[in-house]
Amino acid sequence: MRTLPFFPPDLFEEDREALLSAVHELGTGAAQRFILGERTAELEEALRESTGAGHAVACASGTGALELSVRALGIGPGDEVIVPAFCCQPVASSVANTGATPVFADVDPWTMVLDPDATKSLITERTKALMPAHVFSIMADMERLGAIAREHGVALIEDAAVAQGAVLDGRPAGRWGDLGVFSFFQVKAFGTAGEGGVVLTDDPELARAARMLRNHGQDGVHRFLHHRIGQNNRFDEVLAAFQLHRLPGFPDRLERRARIADYYTERFEPLRERGVLAPPAGRNGRCYYVYSLLVDRREDLRAYLTEHQIGSHIYYPVPLPRQPAFAPWAAPDGAWPNAERASARNLAIPIWPHLTDAEVEFIADTVCEFYA
Ligand SMILES: *Cc1c(COP(=O)(O)O)cnc(C)c1O
Repeated sequence: MRTLPFFPPDLFEEDREALLSAVHELGTGAAQRFILGERTAELEEALRESTGAGHAVACASGTGALELSVRALGIGPGDEVIVPAFCCQPVASSVANTGATPVFADVDPWTMVLDPDATKSLITERTKALMPAHVFSIMADMERLGAIAREHGVALIEDAAVAQGAVLDGRPAGRWGDLGVFSFFQVKAFGTAGEGGVVLTDDPELARAARMLRNHGQDGVHRFLHHRIGQNNRFDEVLAAFQLHRLPGFPDRLERRARIADYYTERFEPLRERGVLAPPAGRNGRCYYVYSLLVDRREDLRAYLTEHQIGSHIYYPVPLPRQPAFAPWAAPDGAWPNAERASARNLAIPIWPHLTDAEVEFIADTVCEFYA
């Protein structure tokens, strides 16, 4: 058996020629336009069509897309945005960077996504938005979070950075909020050979604001006329061409990931009494970007997998409100027990689409052997 790293080094091997020819074409093209050109517009249109969104705004990263979303809503000093306590840091930094306050809510103990009840109890008259994020393989409970947002008249920003291509109750990830965000970071579902992200929205005013803000507050017509203080948050033409090339194969790669997950979940179900919790089975609201278990004896399992040449990964070992950077925003009397447990117990195993069936079986066997 070959070594099975957690992050495969050959994700884009089959697309090497397409990338080289995109570089060559753009590099030798008459227009010499390397950002926000025709290919970016074409990719935006393709994503708009495939998700049914009114508008898609490509930008520099998933983090950048969250920042554009928060700023497009006009959120700033004095405002609060409720974010998950167990997540990657951009959910909190995108809020704090506007001068607003990220308010940390605990997560569900099994699925590790924002808990609607915890969210509800943190809403104040300063709350301007909820920002749930889908993590690993599960979408947040968007139905309930959407209802809470509507009931309190606050905006909903859906961080679907890891969930592109997922569908919950017939509605695609990224389409549940006032704004939805995807990331093209290398290892994400629709990752690329560099950085990128996108903001989706149906609201033409929010789309207009996001477009302006991504390019220094300009309107795309009058150069050097700045309507707002924006950012350099633009998207690269070579990567737009590369993503257009990779888009038709995306559903098949997602399906392969989902099949591997189906198999793992079936194999790990009997380990429940040994302290191994697999994600809930099924396809509704699932995005198998990562396959993450909650386990007892995590360090020993990790060592055992390493011994068998199988890579694994621990996500977010420290909850956001426990991070030094976010200490000023962590409620002193706050408690996030489910986030703490998720940090202490999650372990992700390889799920990349070009794993062979035999390799997937070997990984499952090895985990089962450890707990036998
Ligand atoms: C990766 C990720 C982001 C940020 O995306 P980048 O493109 O890496 O900036 C935001 N939120 C979540 C949940 C992510 O996993």
